[in-house]
Amino acid sequence: MQNIAAFKQLIGTPRDIVITTHTKPDADALGSSLGLALFLKHMGHRVTVITPTDYPKFLTWMKGNDEVVIYNDNNEAKSQTLIDSAEIVFCLDFSSLSRIDDLGERVREATAVKVLIDHHLAPEDFADFMRWSTEAAATAELVYDLIEEIGGEYLVDKDIAECLYAGIMTDTGCFKHPNTTENVFAVSSKLIRKGADTAKVSKLIYDSNTVDRIKFIGFALSERLQILEEYNTAFFAISEEDLKSFHSRTGDTEGLVNYALSIEGIKFAAMIIDRGEAVKMSFRSIGEFSVNEFARTHFQGGGHKNAAGGISRENLQLTIAKFEKLLVGYKEQLNPKLKTLV
Ligand code: 5GP
Ligand code: MN
Repeated sequence: MQNIAAFKQLIGTPRDIVITTHTKPDADALGSSLGLALFLKHMGHRVTVITPTDYPKFLTWMKGNDEVVIYNDNNEAKSQTLIDSAEIVFCLDFSSLSRIDDLGERVREATAVKVLIDHHLAPEDFADFMRWSTEAAATAELVYDLIEEIGGEYLVDKDIAECLYAGIMTDTGCFKHPNTTENVFAVSSKLIRKGADTAKVSKLIYDSNTVDRIKFIGFALSERLQILEEYNTAFFAISEEDLKSFHSRTGDTEGLVNYALSIEGIKFAAMIIDRGEAVKMSFRSIGEFSVNEFARTHFQGGGHKNAAGGISRENLQLTIAKFEKLLVGYKEQLNPKLKTLV
């Protein structure tokens, strides 16, 4: 935060506050938003969380979930009223307003003071206050550190701790990714001290599968996984029909891409899913290959160096063809043993 004293002053008196986060919120997006919302409510503020879209059922246990306003669920007018009357709008876990679709322009035009808290690469310059670090594993980690910095940790209760812990646990891939720093464990430890039941959070998020979802994963692994050995790349291509036949719901495809990345020797994994209105892509990598750059350059996306996403307006087959063709240009990065002969 550029000016912590000014920020402390801003939130020093009760305000009308909106917190928003990215499209199809994940555990960090929703957990950091609801965790911060609960904290600000304890401070005496009036707070509403607005998400651009719905989110997976395995996140609905979070305290405050019942009061979340889902913008594209016929809540456009309500959201506008809330944004118009907000004195502060917090933007959590996304770095550019395009990540929140239509809501982005409404936030941009708002007269409220804007506060960005995020850990993605290349933030857009729209906020009045910014707590931004790509060193942070999760936005939830940044939220906890900020709470501590303003001397508010005494207000952190079990509910807040569990929301924030969920964000840290998932964005570190259960403390497996290279972003699992000393501070990640330090913050997690403090959250446990505040009452976070880590086994409960883990179970609610990872062990609440439907039979359909488990069968879908089995189907995707056996029928939809392609390996491109030459590029040390593995990807899933999932059609709309595939999703329909397994009654797929929001969140059912989350984590699938990690199976592709877990294959020995694979450095780049992708999940290409036909969502009807667009083809959505998730990218993951191990090591130096930057999927953020790949997504940003070719698929109007972005994210982190080793985890990013993007979108394609072409159909599934054309998107797959484009993806495979693009790999040729990354051959030496993905497979340094192969030298292209020119
Ligand atoms: P996931 O593949 O789990 O949806 O997303 C991986 C990371 O990339 C997350 O940090 C997410 O916020 C980011 N991301 C996913 N899709 C997009 C996108 O379309 N645009 C941008 N800028 N970031 C994305
Ligand atoms: Mn995050």
